[in-house]
Amino acid sequence: MIELPEAMTIAKQMHAELTGKRIVDVVRGASPHKFAFYGPLSEEEYIRRLKGALLGETTWHGMHTLTTVGDDHILALGGGGERILYHRDEGSIPKKHQLLLRFADGDALTVSVSGWGSVFCLTNEELLGQGHIRYGQPQPLSDAFTFESFAQTFSARAPEDKTSIKYHLISEPGVAGVGNGYLQDILFYAGIHPQRRVVEIKDRQQHKLYGALISTLQRAAELGGRDTERDLYNRPGGYARLMDTRTAGQPCPKCGAEIVKISYLGGACYLCPECQR
Ligand SMILES: [Zn+2]
Repeated sequence: MIELPEAMTIAKQMHAELTGKRIVDVVRGASPHKFAFYGPLSEEEYIRRLKGALLGETTWHGMHTLTTVGDDHILALGGGGERILYHRDEGSIPKKHQLLLRFADGDALTVSVSGWGSVFCLTNEELLGQGHIRYGQPQPLSDAFTFESFAQTFSARAPEDKTSIKYHLISEPGVAGVGNGYLQDILFYAGIHPQRRVVEIKDRQQHKLYGALISTLQRAAELGGRDTERDLYNRPGGYARLMDTRTAGQPCPKCGAEIVKISYLGGACYLCPECQR
């Protein structure tokens, strides 16, 4: 799954490679995939937007890379199990892909989806209508993501609210760019159990959580994302998670207690039962 550090890494590489390139050919859905989403457009309209267009800059928002296409459109990739790869030679193009863009200079870009993923080409306005991109929310590692904006999501909940911190951070309202992948380490560094009720997390712990969130994503971004994900050149990142399937059953790096796995809200959580209350 692409999350913020991976989106940042790939977006910077795409910016360096793709800016100023012209798309000469578009192949959409060469390998049919039920959970590859192309947005609200017909295939014809989708291809019309991309074919012949000049690519502008690439930035990112949350879990998505955003590439300017011509004057009016944005290619938004990410948020799921996409592999976004750049190709200088035909041989490196995977057999199965959901999007293939060929450029005037002979290079190519492919997007292959495993699990589910989105491959959108939208106007700015259409992008705002895609809630899962969280385009209107501040993203971590940007100036807009202040402690005040983060704390406001906590104070918006009524005292009797039973929502857990896991749901709060990755679902509603969610934090742009944070998914189940980084959640484990963020909650570990903050010393918070994923099932803890949001309303029980007060000032000092909110600060600690905010700090853990930023430092975890920052470090992962510097390392090019997780070591289980790939960049634009199919190289793994350098961030090894403290809390994941590989460390379950191992001693906690802080206290030595055994790291446990629990299933919660449609995904595994890895945590230290001593450090995370
Ligand atoms: Zn521990």
